[in-house]
Amino acid sequence: MKRKIIALFLSASLVAVALAGCGKVDTAGQEDTNAEETEVVSETEAEAESIEEEETQTEEEPPQVQPGEERLLFVNGYDNCFIVDSKGNKLNELDLGKLKDSEFKDYTDITPVEYAEGIVYFEGTYYSGDDFCKDIIAYNLESKEQTVAYKLEKEEYVGAVDFYNGKVYVTTYDYKGSENTLKNSEKFLEKDAEALKYTVSDSPLNPVLAIISADIQSDKDGADNYDFRKCFTRELEENGYLVAYKNSILRLYDDKGNETGYPMDEDDYVSIVGYDKENILMTVTRYDIGKTERTLYCFDPKTGEKKIIDDSSKANTILYTDGFLYYYTDLSEEFGINNNHVYRYDPVSGSSALIYETRNVPGAVYNPGIIGFTVINGEVYFVDVMDRSFKWVRVNYDESGASYTDIYCALKEIDKLKYGDVEYVSKTVKCPDCDTPLNKEYVEYFVFNDSVPHSAEINAELKAQADLAVENYEDYGTTCEEHQEYPEQSCVTEETRVDNIRFIGENYVSVDRSGYWYGGGAHGMPWAEYILFDLTTGEQKSLRDFYSGSDEDFANLMAEVAVRELETNKEFSNQVYDNDKEAVEASVKESTTLDTVTIRFEDKGIYVEYMPYVLGPYASGFVDLYVSYEELLGRDSL
Ligand SMILES: [Zn+2]
Repeated sequence: MKRKIIALFLSASLVAVALAGCGKVDTAGQEDTNAEETEVVSETEAEAESIEEEETQTEEEPPQVQPGEERLLFVNGYDNCFIVDSKGNKLNELDLGKLKDSEFKDYTDITPVEYAEGIVYFEGTYYSGDDFCKDIIAYNLESKEQTVAYKLEKEEYVGAVDFYNGKVYVTTYDYKGSENTLKNSEKFLEKDAEALKYTVSDSPLNPVLAIISADIQSDKDGADNYDFRKCFTRELEENGYLVAYKNSILRLYDDKGNETGYPMDEDDYVSIVGYDKENILMTVTRYDIGKTERTLYCFDPKTGEKKIIDDSSKANTILYTDGFLYYYTDLSEEFGINNNHVYRYDPVSGSSALIYETRNVPGAVYNPGIIGFTVINGEVYFVDVMDRSFKWVRVNYDESGASYTDIYCALKEIDKLKYGDVEYVSKTVKCPDCDTPLNKEYVEYFVFNDSVPHSAEINAELKAQADLAVENYEDYGTTCEEHQEYPEQSCVTEETRVDNIRFIGENYVSVDRSGYWYGGGAHGMPWAEYILFDLTTGEQKSLRDFYSGSDEDFANLMAEVAVRELETNKEFSNQVYDNDKEAVEASVKESTTLDTVTIRFEDKGIYVEYMPYVLGPYASGFVDLYVSYEELLGRDSL
């Protein structure tokens, strides 16, 4: 893959922010800002201010690397987890998939939540009957020794696990009390000096938490990254207060539980992104019929003043850390593609600067520039697609633009990109009279490289199919009045993605695609397709090219297979509408011909995939039936 380096033309302000980017907000500067304009300053003003800032901060020492500042890099849903130092150098790597299969076999899931002093802390989940249970597990990286450091009560959730003042603080919450109200509490764990053993104590804050518990949340909106979650004790000691929003009032609590309230507009939905001593960062959303207005604010808890950061309704928050708010806006004009612009807002200058801009690599499903986002020592890292892999990069930016440095922490290789690239066609059809979008199509297609025989013929066919799919669009034929009143319900959208490239035996390759069609309503319709090519000729093949029987023969065979499944496979019998033998037989016969079902070719047989609603309800998803080549064709391979 060619890596696109996106050139950003940075203003002087961004460079200045970068130079001062050790992430410490200096208090003197903060006091100055309080006296300044509360509105977001224009670019020229921002430049002037930043230059001043640069002058005052040039004498500051560069950020010192402190021992114990190691950080955890992890993205939910992936197996690789890394420990890096404060400069982003890899210190250690953990394969969670392997750990789950060996040392953590008792857990259905493990999530790394904190790292300190050679020990990784995991949230481990297991089930006791229908109830979930969670443990905080301590795992010594060097000795591979593990222990349950703390057992949560049944149905209790982990808020934050935070190594603070030499102890591991665990904040938890549940909804078990009266009227399902949120109940927060906090423990701290102290490690034995010699052994991997912990003593658990109640946090001195618990009596206060008991009073205000229903109103505070430990997992702030935006900080879904565990590494940035803080315990209540740290929040109180570092910031001087805990913050909550309830019944249209922004509430600040001191260490005794005393409340200072700031009333907000009752039509607004307020979500707190993060806060510190100086600022509370929040998203305010207002739902009106047909549109949603979203504004980012920086709230000053000393004066009660609110500064607008972004009121375009397009900004999404990522993280507030070290005195900076990171947020992004998707400025893509192509359906199916994200073009994310990531900004850093500095409450001291009151201005935002673009850090970098990035787009999807087609064929990889992810939120570009946002997945794996973290800030270490003032520098930004995220997971990018580079050299056919998802891997962490460090963002470097200067006058000439942003560039990305591989830090050798790879989440996963994208296998299909070994055989070629994924390209796409995207098209939006708008009403000629009022410009309302009526149809949006995004279709990916695979372009094989020369290592694959007959790639030119295969590529031409795949491209032609993609062009045809985009051309054959549909809309509802609504009037301007109708589609203006219900724009979302009147627009048909369809996304088609290349999931996988699979070689079957020596002579065939399958291009696996899946799609999602949406035309209003509660949900759309997923579909899948497996396009098979003969590598000796470059021709597309279907089951008809291999199977000599009739449609009726095939339907009868599949009905037999279905009855067999019903008797032996519990999952299948749960999926179908009516797990009665005659009913299943009849519905399979009725819905099966060689052309109407989706066939997935495998090494030893085929899966016949029935769309949702055909054999079972929508919630059952695709219902699969397997039949071997032996039974289907009388031979053991395709
Ligand atoms: Zn119209």
